[in-house]
Amino acid sequence: MSAFVLHGQIKANQAERQENFIHARGNCPSAGAGAPKAGAAPARKRPLIRLTGEKRIDKALSTMAFDSRKYERLRESMVKNQIEARGITDPAVLSAMREVPRHMFVSEALMAQAYSDHPLPIGEQQTISQPYIVAQMTQALQLDRTDRVLEIGTGSGYQAAVLAQIVYRVYTIEKKRNLHIQARKIFDQLRTMNVVTRYSDGTMGWKEESPFDAILVTAGAPEIPATLLNQLAMGGRMVIPVGQSFSQELIKLYRDENGIHQSRLGGCRFVKLVGEYGWRES
Ligand code: SAH
Repeated sequence: MSAFVLHGQIKANQAERQENFIHARGNCPSAGAGAPKAGAAPARKRPLIRLTGEKRIDKALSTMAFDSRKYERLRESMVKNQIEARGITDPAVLSAMREVPRHMFVSEALMAQAYSDHPLPIGEQQTISQPYIVAQMTQALQLDRTDRVLEIGTGSGYQAAVLAQIVYRVYTIEKKRNLHIQARKIFDQLRTMNVVTRYSDGTMGWKEESPFDAILVTAGAPEIPATLLNQLAMGGRMVIPVGQSFSQELIKLYRDENGIHQSRLGGCRFVKLVGEYGWRES
């Protein structure tokens, strides 16, 4: 079963419990008078009859079940045709992408396109990355269950939610207030407990929580910010798009006793990393 619980579902379940509670009290002759007296005959079990709201709740639940089945199918096809077909093999990454409801991270009008092979607008002139890029970057980080990961550029929150499925804790920074607030809301709604969010300039990193086992920058930088490299643990990995404002190269860095090692993962196109150690605000 999915690890995610929709807010609506929680409400419906609560309402259902409330109904059952009312029902149980109705059945119990000592209702309101504390525990049944010792030696009293046990109350006979009666068939459960819901008292109120039955139709409304059942309808809401069945609509949601339909939707989630529909999106589950789209998600499965996304993983098969866009992710596995292009050579992503890390089981943890594949399973996280099968699990995270990507449609919940875009506006309602774009939900039907959430599993398509391209980025989508998320407001504030920013985008949620194409699913394959998310998978490629996540795999490149070579994550472990115990890792603490820093993400720069929370955006919709989708990438952080994928990371959160795999690692111990995700620290994610967003510099646009509305996106930060919206992402926080969705993490709470999906009960993603291991994502810590922050509203600030991510090019400065998150010194108090450093060093990190992995750092992922999801916006294009003119060069690698030294501040972030300094917050990478020994054995740590970092993935960052570096280059011009409209096209970059995805770079992977690895720190060991001998220093920093760098490899190239291919061309990409991200929105700008704007900040003290990124592009200047225009
Ligand atoms: N990871 C996101 C996609 C991010 S798009 C997702 O899964 O949806 C890039 C994001 O980086 C944008 O939201 C942009 O506002 C943010 N960003 C740009 N410069 C930043 C900075 N210096 N610090 C933090 N966030 C920044």
